[in-house]
Amino acid sequence: MTAPPNSLWAATAPPPPPTAPLQESLRTDVVVIGAGVTGLSTAIHLAERGIGCVVLEAEAAGFGGSGRNSGHIIPTLGAGDPDALVARLGAERGERMVAFLRDSADLVFELIRRYQIECEAVQNGWAMPAHRPSRLKDIERRYEEWTRRQARARLLDAAETEALLGTRTYHGALMLPSGGHVNPLALAHGLAHAAVGLGVRLYTGAPALSLDRGADGGWRVRTPSGEVIADKLVVATNAYTGALVPKLARSLVRIINYQVSTHPLPAGERESVLPSDVSSSDTRRDLRPFRKDRAGRLVTGATLALPIAMDRRIRPWIERRIGQVFPQISDRRLEYVWNGRIAMTPNRLPRVHEIGPGAITAIAYNGRGMAIGMAMGAALADWAAGTPADQLPLPKLEIEPLPLASALGRWAQVALLWYRRLDTRD
Ligand SMILES: Cc1cc2nc3c(=O)[nH]c(=O)nc-3n(C[C@H](O)[C@H](O)[C@H](O)COP(=O)(O)OP(=O)(O)OC[C@H]3O[C@@H](n4cnc5c(N)ncnc54)[C@H](O)[C@@H]3O)c2cc1C
Repeated sequence: MTAPPNSLWAATAPPPPPTAPLQESLRTDVVVIGAGVTGLSTAIHLAERGIGCVVLEAEAAGFGGSGRNSGHIIPTLGAGDPDALVARLGAERGERMVAFLRDSADLVFELIRRYQIECEAVQNGWAMPAHRPSRLKDIERRYEEWTRRQARARLLDAAETEALLGTRTYHGALMLPSGGHVNPLALAHGLAHAAVGLGVRLYTGAPALSLDRGADGGWRVRTPSGEVIADKLVVATNAYTGALVPKLARSLVRIINYQVSTHPLPAGERESVLPSDVSSSDTRRDLRPFRKDRAGRLVTGATLALPIAMDRRIRPWIERRIGQVFPQISDRRLEYVWNGRIAMTPNRLPRVHEIGPGAITAIAYNGRGMAIGMAMGAALADWAAGTPADQLPLPKLEIEPLPLASALGRWAQVALLWYRRLDTRD
């Protein structure tokens, strides 16, 4: 794993709490592996219930996707609209998952307020603008499906969308007011502070090397210089899952996604780009996400189809895209460029797996893990307190390793060429 590169978030997030590697043998109720938003939210919700918790993080809090993403807080999945989820999972499980998604962004902002986390949180909504007139029927359908389930939602026409986003590119939009954006690394650091403040023992530079079940039914997790014995185990490693649970790693398709920011936009331009300060990702399959940070930088991202010389090719590629959507930005040069791994699945749905008796993981957020991962933290704490795994909001499935999983990641990126064709044809 490489260190988080020169990211905007690393340059602007307040520091995490001081932590160190594990140097002893500990006993606790629940051991959590991974200090991203899923693991830290799990730890907070466990501590709030009075359940003892140790978190082991191989690198640093927010090292994985949680500190590298674009910070969009989105209460939906990229694929899997409400009716489709109900058709796939059945009425009870499908509606449970839909309600969970609907409420996930509110849970994030509520947790931020509860622990007064300084992370540039803005809950002005998430917009999904239609990149072609033919996609208006999709957002109208989504609007109908979500409002039927009591979600707060608005449908905007082209003029309202232009006023909201500061671009004429789009033809209308679905707007979900519970969404928004944050500085994701600042959020991860803030969650770490909150967890430690509640008595969670968080160890960093503490990779879990092996998992064993002891004769007493507990889990023994070894790190290079210490170990934890716990009644229950939560693995929260998502796209950064390694050899610890090899079958799990092989069940994911991992793609590299780039994030970038401009320099702070000058006054005038700053107000005209995303004037309502919402978060936005459009209806393209190869979607174009946009948001601003507090200093007025435009933050966006992309995955390159051909996984060669990506560091060199990403700048001109994204600068051109920014110009297509926001031609009013005069200086499109990028101040920060960084990347991270996204865990995808062929059906593009996240899930939970029981890794063994008393051991669980929530995984494969398909690029939407900020709200869903944090909300899963609350659900995983419920599980540790006794809720059966098949009552959790995400479907419980067997782990199914994919043939040639690592090559599939490269193929998934190349498949973007096809998606772009479809986006143009829509
Ligand atoms: C570039 C990019 C942009 C994205 N944009 C968005 C977005 O705007 N909105 C959104 O909702 N989602 C987005 N996502 C997805 C989102 O970031 C993830 O779904 C989410 O952060 C997953 O959180 P997590 O806590 O489950 O995993 P992670 O944050 O990846 O944390 C896993 C942690 O586990 C640790 N770990 C791994 N193995 C071990 C081990 N053996 N022992 C100890 N620790 C270990 C890792 O070091 C890591 O810190 C994006 C992802 C990327 C990469």
